[in-house]
Amino acid sequence: MAKVYKFGGASVKDADGVRNVERIVRLALQDSSDGLMVVVSAMGKTTNALERVVAFLDAGKEEEALAQWVDIIDFHVAIMKSLGLQPGSDIRLQGEIPYDPKCSYDENYDQIVSLGEIMSTQIVAVYLLKQGLSVEWWNMPKLLRTDDTWREAKVDNTASSAVIRAGWDRPRRPQVVVAQGFIGGTADGRRTTLGREGSDYTAALLGNYLDAESVTIWKDVPGILNADPRIEPETVLIPSLRYMDAVELANSGAQVMHPKTIRPLENKHIPLLVKPFGDPTAEGSRIADDGVGPIGVPVYIWRKNQILITMRAKDFAFVLEESLSEIFDIIHRHRLKVSLIQSSAVTISVCVDNTRFVADAIKELQAHFNVTYNENLSLLTIRGTTPEILAHAQAGKQIMLSQTTRRTARLVVVENHGK
Ligand code: ASP
Ligand code: MG
Repeated sequence: MAKVYKFGGASVKDADGVRNVERIVRLALQDSSDGLMVVVSAMGKTTNALERVVAFLDAGKEEEALAQWVDIIDFHVAIMKSLGLQPGSDIRLQGEIPYDPKCSYDENYDQIVSLGEIMSTQIVAVYLLKQGLSVEWWNMPKLLRTDDTWREAKVDNTASSAVIRAGWDRPRRPQVVVAQGFIGGTADGRRTTLGREGSDYTAALLGNYLDAESVTIWKDVPGILNADPRIEPETVLIPSLRYMDAVELANSGAQVMHPKTIRPLENKHIPLLVKPFGDPTAEGSRIADDGVGPIGVPVYIWRKNQILITMRAKDFAFVLEESLSEIFDIIHRHRLKVSLIQSSAVTISVCVDNTRFVADAIKELQAHFNVTYNENLSLLTIRGTTPEILAHAQAGKQIMLSQTTRRTARLVVVENHGK
């Protein structure tokens, strides 16, 4: 059976990272007869840098955009050279920035930002080929069919799985296929992106289409931990989880995987492994049908950059039931991601990710309600909490709102207070 491996930007941030990919791929080929699907995201912080190119162009700052673009190209050229690859002959890099002032911001975003994955996968594929492996590069904008919801494209699974399955099942297909995560394409050949950090989701979809034996996400941590090691000094590895626990972790904001990753795998009972890039033979974490649950240690998950919006009826004749559908309709249309909801007799508060869509949504909500909001908040979710754990977590923090059940606590915390 096929295996799917996904390498994130932090793993392929430099030439040594690409060499380590080769090492891990070779280990996999020792025991996988049916080939390996390798999904790669953009190198290092390339996606952020490409986002800046789009923003500069949109603001009419062409010189700044070009300077940023040249930096990005130089960064890739330097990695290619230290891998012994020749820019121009081994790999032809995109010459001009594919920006069209007639297109919307979001459409231009997808044409430009998707190039990060195109470049990274070309480098990885050509490097593996030059090391003597049997490799094929796949151009996902032609294979993963999506609609044209720019920046959050919806995947057409029927069309995509048929094409991808046919490509994979061909006789004499090379052993290793290198494909971009995060990007797809429309029927008329425009590139699309699936939402930030979407490469995990791509890996899960490919695992589903290929009926893979497993999908492995290689990370710069030992596996799924009970807290973010950058925040908590002491963390514990969770070796085995159930799908449902993993979904909750991802939805609470755990950086370890994209929330959409689990469903395509659960549907086909495909285990998801999270393993350390720096120590490929370590066990890591395994999420599967037979995973152990509930998780035996308290889990701390931070979701940053939240905004708490509170709506109050203008005339005090607040009928919650009637207002709810109106509120959520507005929230949904403005693509806000709700992380927490709380209501009282006369107000309803929602905590959402503070994206660039928020301002317009608030404007629309203000037409119907008295709206107040607080920015610079984080949502801390503690699963498996106890009164002692909660008291300890609250100490020294300014808390805007909290919700607790017997085992789960959720605190909306003012940033820069406590940890
Ligand atoms: N390169 C994209 C991003 O940084 C996708 C990913 O890394 O999963 O959001
Ligand atoms: Mg990335």
